[in-house]
Amino acid sequence: MKAILHTLLLAGGLVAAGTASAATYQLCSTSGCRTGGSAIAWTSYAKTKYPIILTHGIMGFSSVGPVEYFYGIAPDLTANGGNVFDAQVSSLDSSYVRGEQLRSQVQQILAITGAPKVNIIGHSQGAMDSRYVAGVIPTKIASVTSVGGVNAGTPVADAVMKAAGIPVIGSTVAAASAAVVNAVFKLIDVASGHEYDQNTMAALNQLTTASAATFNAQFSAGLPTTACGQGVQKASNGVSYFSWGGTSPLTNVLDPLDYLFTPSSFAIPGASDGMVPQCSQHLGTVLRDNYAQNHGDEVNQVLGLVNVFAASPVTIYRDHANRLKNLGL
Ligand code: CA
Repeated sequence: MKAILHTLLLAGGLVAAGTASAATYQLCSTSGCRTGGSAIAWTSYAKTKYPIILTHGIMGFSSVGPVEYFYGIAPDLTANGGNVFDAQVSSLDSSYVRGEQLRSQVQQILAITGAPKVNIIGHSQGAMDSRYVAGVIPTKIASVTSVGGVNAGTPVADAVMKAAGIPVIGSTVAAASAAVVNAVFKLIDVASGHEYDQNTMAALNQLTTASAATFNAQFSAGLPTTACGQGVQKASNGVSYFSWGGTSPLTNVLDPLDYLFTPSSFAIPGASDGMVPQCSQHLGTVLRDNYAQNHGDEVNQVLGLVNVFAASPVTIYRDHANRLKNLGL
């Protein structure tokens, strides 16, 4: 009760002092940005020098109705002074296609804000998309942060593609399933207010360890130079790179995603978040690679169902924004 009273008094004081202000965050696509929601900016804790762009992973979206992919993250960053944009790319496609879609949104956001650079935080395949953009327009990117990023691919995609490669039946099934999945994600995409083509097989292929290696030869900035090591924080292209991720496939029995990540983790030798190996998550400064989180928890899904005994994902993003701020980014 004392803490609540303290918070209320502090809030009242801030309002009285005129330091709190209404702020909005934006949902973007290649066709533009629109207001996603608003919050009262109580503090400047997450007020980075450059705007923050959150960009989703495979099968992701910026928002469907009131549900944002980075669940509760943009409102919290906004409430702490952040200037935040949720990007939307094809749910399913290669990081070359998705990366171009993200680049287009970065340039729109630069135009909207007048900022010279942006910070990008990408989850899962979003980390590869972000690295693509940093590779193409490095002078416009202050930092790239990988959260559960598939930087070196994942054996889960290898296993799926191998299954799809089984002659006749496997490839027929894969083609049929891909068509259904493409259609479903087209619907989600339309429901979220955007319209991109979807390409399941290109997305899965992108995340194989072989394709990731090809991609990494082109976009090597920030990658570890030793097996499972760290990259330099500031790469030679002038972009700062960071990463974090989890290694607990099962964290909350109420979350249906846990029943996906637990079996998928069996396809991965060693520690993983259920979808991405621990070492594949490494990029730039490895802030932490063993949070008690699975691949969904890393973006506070589903609907905030995460490990109740571990650090809140929302807090981790907020603290990282503060880190970027303190680094002058
Ligand atoms: Ca979860």
